[in-house]
Amino acid sequence: MEDGKPVWAPHPTDGFQLGMIVDIGADTLAIEPLNQKGKTFLAPMNQVFPAEEDVNKHMEDNCSLMYLNEGTLLNNVRVRYSKDKIYTYVANILIAVNPYYDIPKLYVPETIKSYRGRSLGTLPPHVYAIADKAYRDMRVLKMSQSIIVSGESGAGKTENTKFVLRYLTTSYGTGQDIDERIVEANPLLEAFGNAKTVRNNNSSRFGKFVEIHFNEKNNVVGGFVSHYLLEKSRICMQSKEERNYHIFYRLCAGASEDIRQKLHLDSPDSFRYLNQGCTRYFASKDTDKQIMQNRKSPEHVKLGALKDLLLDDQGDFNRMCGAMKKIGLDDTEKLDLFRVVAGVLHLGNVDFEETGSTSGGCILMNQSSPTLAYCADLLGLDQEDLRVSLTTRVMLTTAGGAKGTVIKVPLKVEQANNARDALAKAVYSCLFDHVVRRVNQCFPFNTSSNFIGVLDIAGFEYFEHNSFEQFCINYCNEKLQQFFNERILKEEQELYQKEGLGVSEVHYVDNQDCIDLVEAKLVGILDILDEENRLPLPSDQHFAEAIHSKHKDHFRLTVPRKSKLAVHRNVRDDEGFMVRHFAGAVCYETTQFVEKNNDALHMSLESLVCESKDKFVRELFENSNNSKDSKQKAGKLSFISVGNKFKVRKETGSSFIRCVKPNLKMVSHQFEGAQILSQLQCSGMVSVLDLMQGGFPSRAAFHELYNMYKQYMPDKLTRLDPRLFCKALFKALGLNENDYKFGLTRVFFRPGKFAEFDQIMKSD
Ligand code: ATP
Ligand code: MG
Repeated sequence: MEDGKPVWAPHPTDGFQLGMIVDIGADTLAIEPLNQKGKTFLAPMNQVFPAEEDVNKHMEDNCSLMYLNEGTLLNNVRVRYSKDKIYTYVANILIAVNPYYDIPKLYVPETIKSYRGRSLGTLPPHVYAIADKAYRDMRVLKMSQSIIVSGESGAGKTENTKFVLRYLTTSYGTGQDIDERIVEANPLLEAFGNAKTVRNNNSSRFGKFVEIHFNEKNNVVGGFVSHYLLEKSRICMQSKEERNYHIFYRLCAGASEDIRQKLHLDSPDSFRYLNQGCTRYFASKDTDKQIMQNRKSPEHVKLGALKDLLLDDQGDFNRMCGAMKKIGLDDTEKLDLFRVVAGVLHLGNVDFEETGSTSGGCILMNQSSPTLAYCADLLGLDQEDLRVSLTTRVMLTTAGGAKGTVIKVPLKVEQANNARDALAKAVYSCLFDHVVRRVNQCFPFNTSSNFIGVLDIAGFEYFEHNSFEQFCINYCNEKLQQFFNERILKEEQELYQKEGLGVSEVHYVDNQDCIDLVEAKLVGILDILDEENRLPLPSDQHFAEAIHSKHKDHFRLTVPRKSKLAVHRNVRDDEGFMVRHFAGAVCYETTQFVEKNNDALHMSLESLVCESKDKFVRELFENSNNSKDSKQKAGKLSFISVGNKFKVRKETGSSFIRCVKPNLKMVSHQFEGAQILSQLQCSGMVSVLDLMQGGFPSRAAFHELYNMYKQYMPDKLTRLDPRLFCKALFKALGLNENDYKFGLTRVFFRPGKFAEFDQIMKSD
């Protein structure tokens, strides 16, 4: 940084502000903001970065800037976003900012066509370009590809995933049903696996990896969806501003009179599993008002900015039914799904009260209510059996030496409530498994040569209260980050090596220690949790103590700060742990960890549903292999496998899309810099820039340069072969030798130098 040149210095809400260095301290700099003369402030040295000369200039590939740092990246993304250019490259990585409105023509069929077969960088940055690159790499390298889409809730992962699927099926499908089905499967998956949360009105509460399979001619032959970690706690409980899964409300709002009667449906307010959250068919009043205030012009309403923020359950019901039909579900199958959904709702309304007797058990609260009968009927269970199973627990006793005597232990009200909720969760998650299985039957294939997979899972999460779900998600992201580091850095170094550049090795923050903390055998947090579950009297507190005692001085683990946990609830200090993740420290509350890791059904409830008179319900459980042990394994393994999937599959190529949420209000044309900066930091983009700034981020093959510039050169020069041509050209221009390096097949440029070179060439 030089005197008198503008710098990016920290700003509390914008992320960065332009300023001039007016004084230099030991480890701070005194900065005078450009637009507030005299308001000098101090900033830590390592948070001030050189700015580009022209801060209104923007680049399609951020690496073409002169200075690669978080200040210039944020500014580049900001300037582009203000011009509706939501996509930006950082080398081969795509940054995608959610516009929160439909940008005209961005995704129309003509745009799809224009990206077909075009190399990355020849057209403006686009998710289609990444999809096409994956396709061309698959074809040329004869190797499957994965596209990893990440970002926080509401950043646009699922939308971009859908654009990739649409692009690939449109461009490389065979025009048969299958192409359409791969796209139409989404509304169905979203109906059962998405919900309105405070962060996103259509938040995916499960992770998925969608594979599109291609034959030896590289045409689409089918698809396969794997899913991970459906958020089960939502089925029984939601916070005030949030909702349960869409399907519940859609069914209540959209079912025909005939179905309503059959399933005894009523308004969402009348169901316990729906009425704790927000039951309105629309977003809350406040949000409506906010939307109206933030609406820039009536045009936005037309473009759909409003449409998304106000949920239309009735319309969505009809659209969902349309999608079901398109993928080949008939009315019987549809009704099967609806029947189980309604069964879960009625189950939630079953209430218990104390018997008052000395045995301490409980009974159904409102004996004359038809709730239990409805539930039993819809799930094909015997009403009396269901009642007994919910209020008692069958145990095998060894008392008095009589091994294996079966006794029925009456349950307390709270235990019965838990049993009911566990049953609801088990039924719904089996139903979700079924939906995914059924979707997979819609695009079957016999053989496939390669696939392109798109991973859409929740990004790093950090809330006020963090529980088992956040722990799993963050661990998963930790694994993906490791993969990202290895891939980007390894590839970069390999390329330098292959081209004989002799650049010294780049370093990066290794997060293996954090991953070990979670997954190491016996001492890892996951194994400690399993161990706790095996104890006769497992407890969350004992679990927390075990973690701390096994990892006393672990750099990544500490006891949470008192204030964090204890203030809101009466929680003891040791009922939690804090992990230093790559993206920041997160404090986890261990309350319910044991229960959530287990989610076990009582034996009696399990055998009850397994013997349901209803074939559909019976099969739900048979197919999901619901035995306690295998289920626990399957659940956990499924998310461990998300991370491992990419480590093991070294042979697949990969691309990354980093989605960014521009503001918390979910409105268009609002760029909250500080918030966006922290997302870019979390996604590892800033580390990539560090790497690039020290390396040679722009590169061009000799023959490309030759073709690009031969028109500007005298004939004599163009007779040279491309490599010599470039050498002669660079010499003639008197370029500084530190700014570029010649590899075996291409020229590598220091940051910003290619753009500079290009300018010289074209201006001459
Ligand atoms: P979650 O982790 O909660 O599932 P997500 O990252 O999948 O979040 P999306 O559901 O893809 O987020 O996006 C949230 C909303 O933002 C969408 O419903 C849509 O309204 C809007 N949106 C996202 N991307 C775009 C886009 N490219 N153009 C227009 N609107 C978009
Ligand atoms: Mg999503």
